[in-house]
Amino acid sequence: MHESQIRLKAVSSYVLSPPGEHLTISDIADQSRAAYLALMKSAVSPFRNADLAEWFKGPYRRCVSPAGIMLGRTPTPFAIARGSVDVHVDVLTLQAREEALVALRHLKNLREQDTSFTFDARNRGFITECRDDEGTRGLCPVDAPEMKLYERMLSLIAVDYVARPQDYEERLAICRRCEMPFFDGIHACARGLSIHVKRAG
Ligand SMILES: [Zn+2]
Repeated sequence: MHESQIRLKAVSSYVLSPPGEHLTISDIADQSRAAYLALMKSAVSPFRNADLAEWFKGPYRRCVSPAGIMLGRTPTPFAIARGSVDVHVDVLTLQAREEALVALRHLKNLREQDTSFTFDARNRGFITECRDDEGTRGLCPVDAPEMKLYERMLSLIAVDYVARPQDYEERLAICRRCEMPFFDGIHACARGLSIHVKRAG
């Protein structure tokens, strides 16, 4: 399918129904949040290339496979999604975290729902509209080969934000020490805890 046809089709509504799976819009939002938070942890325990590959094949792949099925696309191989090997994994994850933090701080400080945040991602085909078999409409993150890591992160944030904007306005906090975002008001800070760790012997 030509790229422009994919974009045209993206404005209509796909039904979220991976074979043999009951998946709701809320599940997609949960998975998207879990996937971007997992990558944010690279701030306190840096990712090696293998960790990033695992993230791609695990938490990220779970989020994008429903849209992949709907759009009839095969998953982008890690080597292509990762891009040039000359760019160190630390640079990739740092950029992704910084862009994510800018977006999260923006969403946290909003007084009204921001549609411009998702417009760009939607326009570029990085997220697509869908509905689940319960009739709930929402968004799914898309795996497009040309996407940078930070764009993948932003697509996950956009999908979660649209599903529950109030979480971002009311429940989101960002740790000042380690810059980990969290939603439940409780955060076991890896940086904070390390100060109190007793050394054996
Ligand atoms: Zn912390």
